[in-house]
Amino acid sequence: MHHENPKINKNLRGRFAPTPSGRLHFGSLTCALASYLDVKAKNGSWIIRLDDLDSPRVQRGASENIIRTLEYFNLISDEPIRRQSDNLKLYEEIFGDLIRKNLCYRCECSRKRLQSLNNVYDYRCRNKKLSHEKTSVRLKISETNNIQNFIDNIQGNQETAHITSDFIIRRKDQIFSYEYAVVIDDYVQNITSVLRGADLISSTFNQLILHKSLNFNPPLYSHIPVVENKDGEKMSKSKNALMEFSKTKLSILYLALDWLGQNPPAELKNESNQIIIDWAKKNWCPKAIPQLLSKSITEQAQIL
Ligand code: GLU
Repeated sequence: MHHENPKINKNLRGRFAPTPSGRLHFGSLTCALASYLDVKAKNGSWIIRLDDLDSPRVQRGASENIIRTLEYFNLISDEPIRRQSDNLKLYEEIFGDLIRKNLCYRCECSRKRLQSLNNVYDYRCRNKKLSHEKTSVRLKISETNNIQNFIDNIQGNQETAHITSDFIIRRKDQIFSYEYAVVIDDYVQNITSVLRGADLISSTFNQLILHKSLNFNPPLYSHIPVVENKDGEKMSKSKNALMEFSKTKLSILYLALDWLGQNPPAELKNESNQIIIDWAKKNWCPKAIPQLLSKSITEQAQIL
């Protein structure tokens, strides 16, 4: 008989969705940890999803490496790990619906032309009714699906810094765009809480537009500052700490928690990953996460 853990909060589901284009570094591990804690602190579930659609970027062995690294830090998916490449049929089906409902159109503009527009699309192909397959496909933005702002759970109100214009949901090489696939995945996997790096804030507008176009209920979004390489005093301190880690394999989770503003007690430094995570679950304080959009830390070392 299958016993469900009665403590699991079914209404809270988060995920970490790395692209297997390389190994995890300190920044991506910090995102994984934060997304885990954000749901686990309230007994939610957390899943790992490999965003492996963009096959030209996928690196051999990277998925396995990422999973092993997460396991090493006791960041274990509560459900079987998902892969976007398993969902192609669903992406096709929903794509067919969008075409039939006339919510998207084919665009034959060259990369060079788009660059000259600074990537703000000027709707040139919107009414051309192109039908040949070797084109990209754009979603039509209208008054009914447009989004001008959203409330980020950590960063507060976010307004579009750029002009939203019809964006690509399927590329010329026929690969579905990241924005399109991620929206469908988050919806069908019942994700209620998305926590990721602030480099994706601008993409969140497009994602919310897609959720609206598809009549999906969007998750709550939280973005954490991107860990960057920069010279500065704070950095050299952290750098030493990370160097110490790389020699002794100690407490990178401690450093990540420190970076996330969680103020972990010094005694935790030499503790096991599980003890550090247990402390962090009990003491998780999203409000303490820095609001700045970038913060310095050591080089984005490839770990393990
Ligand atoms: N796969 C994306 C990346 O690695 C992140 C997807 C997401 O969290 O929405 O940058």
